[in-house]
Amino acid sequence: MEPNGILIYGEFTQDYGIRNVVKQLLTKSRELKEKIWNQRICVCLIGPRINYENIISELGSYGADDVIIVSDDRLKEYNHNFHPEIFTQIAKKYPPRIILLGATEQGKEIASYCSTKLETGLTADCSDLDIGENNLLLSTRPTFGGQLTADILCSTFPQMATVMENIFKASQIEHSANAIFNWIDIDKIEKKVELVNIIKKNINTKTIENAKIIVSGGSGACKDNGFALIYQLAQKLHATVAGSREAYERGFITKSQQVGQTGKIVSPDIYIAIGISGANQHLTGIKNSGKIIAVNKDKNAPIFEHADIGIVGDLFEIIPNLIRNLDKKEEDNDQ
Ligand SMILES: Cc1cc2nc3c(=O)[nH]c(=O)nc-3n(C[C@H](O)[C@H](O)[C@H](O)COP(=O)(O)OP(=O)(O)OC[C@H]3O[C@@H](n4cnc5c(N)ncnc54)[C@H](O)[C@@H]3O)c2cc1C
Repeated sequence: MEPNGILIYGEFTQDYGIRNVVKQLLTKSRELKEKIWNQRICVCLIGPRINYENIISELGSYGADDVIIVSDDRLKEYNHNFHPEIFTQIAKKYPPRIILLGATEQGKEIASYCSTKLETGLTADCSDLDIGENNLLLSTRPTFGGQLTADILCSTFPQMATVMENIFKASQIEHSANAIFNWIDIDKIEKKVELVNIIKKNINTKTIENAKIIVSGGSGACKDNGFALIYQLAQKLHATVAGSREAYERGFITKSQQVGQTGKIVSPDIYIAIGISGANQHLTGIKNSGKIIAVNKDKNAPIFEHADIGIVGDLFEIIPNLIRNLDKKEEDNDQ
């Protein structure tokens, strides 16, 4: 069968629905589809036996033409044995031209497994996608530690890429998708990994990918209780705390709070960067932010070139002042 269409891994959970990166990949695929004639956009959902009607209609509204569903109650949670193999079997049954996945924990595992099994190339962590010469997928990704970007054309089919969440914007259209139900014999899949238990992390921070306001700390705040100020300010602004890789490496934030090329891409309305210099790898993660406010004691810090509001000064004076003013405003409002 001739490779045809774009196949997207439809990561979702019953609690939170379709992951944003899937909607963003669908929106981008509509653009790619216009450049390559007669291609369909297909999403593969792997999950338990539930009613998929709402999910199918939502996927259709982002541009999916077909939704392939493989359901079994053993697929309620992501499974290292089943999900990568099932997705690969679907890619073999309906050979696509292009396969796209979110660069999430699941997406990365499935992408590497699938590209190996299909003996094709994979461009990981792309920052853009387009159609290049000979109608091939043109994947752009950072290289040399984020100092350069490389445009990569894969000449074997399917052409595979993973893209980080929030690189593209998602938008809906008037469109509906067809449902295709598929049965795969899960008992025949070799079990190399045994799932013993699932322990949910007890972290009291909201996810930074969906946050509207982010207060983010860098190495400038990694001393003298600087991060206590970051958390205090975030609480006052009902914001989510994030940070640079320095802040992560020094143990002030978790990996899931790290912003940037090797962390998360964020798209808040307001991003407040405190004691962050503005290295390229950090900037990669904040370019989709609405307004950027930077506090830095070095007036030449690169972050100021990208900030809408720049405050030059010592964070240990500026942030407590700001918190006092917000406290005062709260008191005035209460009176
Ligand atoms: C392959 C690769 C991937 C990477 N991925 C990431 C990534 O995903 N995310 C990321 O963030 N980095 C990443 N990095 C690291 C990146 O290059 C920088 O080293 C890092 O972003 C710097 O963090 P920072 O801005 O917190 O620290 P610094 O660069 O040390 O900047 C600290 C800033 O704080 C200011 N400051 C200090 N004291 C105060 C004060 N009292 N008041 C106000 N300002 C103060 C200083 O003037 C300075 O500008 C990556 C690097 C590589 C090579």
